[in-house]
Amino acid sequence: MSHVFPRHCHANLPTAVAGDGCYLIDSDGKRYFDASGGAAVSCLGHSNEPVRAAIKAQIDTLAFAHTGFFTSDPAEQLADLLVANAPEGIDRVYFVSGGSEAVEAAIKLARQYYLEIGQPERRNLIARRQSYHGNTLGALAAGGNAWRRQQFDPLLIGVSHIAPCYEYAERGAEESLADYGLRVANELEEEILRLGPETVMAFVAEPVVGATLGAVPAVEGYYTRIREICDQYGVLLILDEVMCGMGRTGHLFACEGEGVRPDIITIAKGLGAGYQPVGAMLCSSAIYDAIAKGSGFFQHGHTYIGHPTATAAGLAVVKQLLDPAMMPRVRELGGLVEQALHSTLGQHAHVGDIRGRGLFWGVELVEDQETKTPFDAGRGLAGKIKKAAVAEGLICYPMPGTRDGRSGDHVLLAPPFIMSDDD
Ligand code: PLP
Repeated sequence: MSHVFPRHCHANLPTAVAGDGCYLIDSDGKRYFDASGGAAVSCLGHSNEPVRAAIKAQIDTLAFAHTGFFTSDPAEQLADLLVANAPEGIDRVYFVSGGSEAVEAAIKLARQYYLEIGQPERRNLIARRQSYHGNTLGALAAGGNAWRRQQFDPLLIGVSHIAPCYEYAERGAEESLADYGLRVANELEEEILRLGPETVMAFVAEPVVGATLGAVPAVEGYYTRIREICDQYGVLLILDEVMCGMGRTGHLFACEGEGVRPDIITIAKGLGAGYQPVGAMLCSSAIYDAIAKGSGFFQHGHTYIGHPTATAAGLAVVKQLLDPAMMPRVRELGGLVEQALHSTLGQHAHVGDIRGRGLFWGVELVEDQETKTPFDAGRGLAGKIKKAAVAEGLICYPMPGTRDGRSGDHVLLAPPFIMSDDD
């Protein structure tokens, strides 16, 4: 009997024993093409030599030194590299071990920033329905995925949720893309006014929505209006790029491609590419300086922040993502994936929408194409797709539609950037 506590208690999973490029191999020797990088993690595949070498070298030199006592070369170098390539104004990096931790840090930073500049009444956070920001209690409260929140609702801090920008399902028949984008962006202003502008500290959103909707970018103009509203009311804009960042959309930071400038960015997944658990929260100098010149102490931290071996892995990953050929290749491969999805699935009676950016694609499944009616979430379609795909040696990421019937089941694809055209 296994003593591991698995998430799905009765899943009876195969044992992964090796990784080889885009493939995972189980103990029976079966090979699985990893078309979703697990959950958009393994951007460089499973046997990347430079990352493995960097980890080995780091462990042989210095595996760990607590950040209460030391900084370390890999953490310093990775922060320099990220900032040199981050959107304008972003120039501090706080390293954590994963996406939920990055979001927790962002929420706490927003709160502390306003305390430091003498606006203690700013405590409200606004997020979007049909979003996912992680499973720790603060991040879960920010997320708008009803199914994930349900059992824990009594434990969650109050966060307001406005509409996501989900054109396929929510745009009115007579509404232009621009009008739709403006209408949903303006929900942010309405919510700020309802709460009282002096009480709102931040708005958090995924530039391209991952796990909950399936690679859904906003329509053009949406984020321009969001930025305007944030500026007008002094609300910090937190962009959660845990899934869509680190080259996944064809840009190192997804917000570059979407044309929006954040105050705080969260990253993880692709940063360590699966080789080490590492994430980060990046923020503007204005936010950092308020704390540095104020209390001088960020009231937040974990044992493994800035872990030397984890940041050494991140450094080796980001160096490869910054190879001048890498992002153009992600966009080129993305074009091939888009074409392949349209030519193989585009005409299928139950494929409602195919959308994405770079190597981040979602296929939304509906009962009825005309009315866009989702399948009943209770039918367990996503689980059946996963089982069928795994049987064929394919790892993809099917997710059920939201239980409020507002989104259909979808399959997320986030293949490695190193795959071939034939793959
Ligand atoms: N934020 C987003 C956008 C995510 O997609 C995820 C995970 O899927 C998280 C946060 C949480 O990250 P982690 O699972 O590493 O805690």
